[in-house]
Amino acid sequence: MIHQLVYYSRNTVPGDGRAMLTNMREILSVSQRNNSRDGITGFLIFDKTWFVQILEGERAQVTETYNRIARDTRHSGTVVINVRDVPARLFPNWTMGGAMRTPEVQEVYLQHGFGGPLEPARLKSDQIINLALDLQAFEMDRRQGQRIAS
Ligand code: FAD
Repeated sequence: MIHQLVYYSRNTVPGDGRAMLTNMREILSVSQRNNSRDGITGFLIFDKTWFVQILEGERAQVTETYNRIARDTRHSGTVVINVRDVPARLFPNWTMGGAMRTPEVQEVYLQHGFGGPLEPARLKSDQIINLALDLQAFEMDRRQGQRIAS
């Protein structure tokens, strides 16, 4: 079984879109390095005010990673939405995929009924996972398109 944890937190890094992009890139870069070492996969959604993240892997590694993340001062008020064991990873190829909410991905949010900002306190983990899976698919299509074009 694979352990899966879904949480949300509030972004504490101020700044404009560029600063947020830099922040997101730094987080993803460290995450990918550590997660590949620890056998963690998952997805990080960043909606300006909120981070929503799915972590999956062995129970001890997921717990350790979450505890480390929760101490990070770049966000605050982490709330675990759901923890469960699942038969297989949902993001097997992503040591940590990530999507910032940009106009480019707005269509994906709209398909899930999110016209305005996310309200993570009202979300069920399955809604988050379904959104993350479609954001992941969008990102994979985008990368595929870039490969074909080059
Ligand atoms: P280093 O990267 O060397 O960092 C050392 C210390 O400095 C850590 O305590 C770190 O929290 C702090 N730090 C580093 N950069 C900054 C900064 N710019 N501002 C403030 N403090 C900083 N890590 C993972 O391993 N996997 C994940 O999936 C993951 N997801 C994350 C999701 C979110 C929303 C956030 C905010 C962070 C996430 N992180 C993740 C990063 C995590 O919180 C730790 O920063 C990281 O794991 C520590 O890596 P390190 O031991 O290599 O230390």
